Amino acid sequence: MDMDTLKRLEKELKNCVKCGACRAHCPVFSVVGREPVSARGKIALVRAALSGQLSLDARTRDVMSKCLLCGRCVEKCANDVPTDLIVLAAREALARKRGATFFHRLTGFLLRNRALLSGGATLVSLFGPLLFRKVPASSGLRLRFPLPFIGGQRHFPKIAARPFLARHPEIIQGEPGRPRIVYFVGCMTNFIYPEIGEAAVELLKSLGCTIIIPKNQHCCGFPALSGGDLDTFRELAERNLAALESHQADYVMTACASCGGAFHRMYPLVLGERYPALAKRFQALSEKAVDASELLQKLGLKPDQGASPLQEITYHDPCHLRSRGIVRQPRELLRTVPGLRLVEMQNADSCCGLGGTFTIHHYGTSMKINTQKTAAIKSSGVETVVTGCPGCMLQLSDGLQQAGSKARVQHTLEILARSLFRR
Ligand code: SF4
Ligand code: SF4
Repeated sequence: MDMDTLKRLEKELKNCVKCGACRAHCPVFSVVGREPVSARGKIALVRAALSGQLSLDARTRDVMSKCLLCGRCVEKCANDVPTDLIVLAAREALARKRGATFFHRLTGFLLRNRALLSGGATLVSLFGPLLFRKVPASSGLRLRFPLPFIGGQRHFPKIAARPFLARHPEIIQGEPGRPRIVYFVGCMTNFIYPEIGEAAVELLKSLGCTIIIPKNQHCCGFPALSGGDLDTFRELAERNLAALESHQADYVMTACASCGGAFHRMYPLVLGERYPALAKRFQALSEKAVDASELLQKLGLKPDQGASPLQEITYHDPCHLRSRGIVRQPRELLRTVPGLRLVEMQNADSCCGLGGTFTIHHYGTSMKINTQKTAAIKSSGVETVVTGCPGCMLQLSDGLQQAGSKARVQHTLEILARSLFRR
């Protein structure tokens, strides 16, 4: 039973010819430097587990948890070995055999009970000053006392006093004949960065679109999946399907790279393969799902309608956009903004080190990976770093603030909306 999930990937596992080409591209290997954490090493461990030479013990769990699911190894593998899916299958097998970790049980419970999650976010927002102190010379917050799962040095943004989903009606009517866009908001935008959602609404309104923001949408489920909690992942995916399908949409828009990654890769490949009854529906969703930068470009957004003061920015590629080839679109949109100069940083497409729940379990390694990114941003000399993923925003801000940088981190949509509406 525990091994069933791994057996499904036997063919893919055999495709690994142990060439090691993936090692040079793995951000975790680059700072840990031990073979087992590389893609090749993890594949070897899973093969050993399948042949009975290795048990699914605590050490195996530790190695399998050391993966950002960044997909870099998959992109670089000439044999198309899907290491991210193999790691996820191993985490599922480990969770089934050993039980999910306390953190992932708690996460799964909160994600399935959205009212509790919202209530918890409101409490943190209300009692923020008791939990956090403002960091001098920056806008970030630091914990006043250590809490489980949270690195003491970490800088936090504020939790929104009012979640984005509570701010707008479900349907914002647009002009006749213009596209109907279902907006999948995602937890980070909803609770932490509602300004991204506000920018999305303004931009889509300016294009005459009808905007549908389903009230019954849920977390995409990525945090549950990354802990091997397939039952929660499936439940959330099915609830989202129901919420998104009930509206006749031309597009389903995400402005979070990870939510988009869930729709495009994880729903069809992790769930669709296993539950054929759902596969068609996942396929239909992934055909309609677009990243905001893709969509705005397709709809002909022209940020040059406005004017902004001269500013230099740099752009960080989120892994879950880069791996889908969404690299050109945000840059092209940003380059059309008058007064904005895009300065490319070194290794703009390297991972920021967040990796969803990876940063919870391995904060030290996560920040070591981030050090390289922070250094690249600082040496680009710009005051603003732009990206297309709220998760990356959290991690980039933390790294920059710890490094004493005053550089701001903003979402592509915020920059575009500001140029149009002079905020
Ligand atoms: S996963 Fe791909 S790149 Fe890595 S060792 Fe195997 S075949 Fe080579
Ligand atoms: S998905 Fe990323 S972190 Fe995980 S093994 Fe591959 S390259 Fe390394």
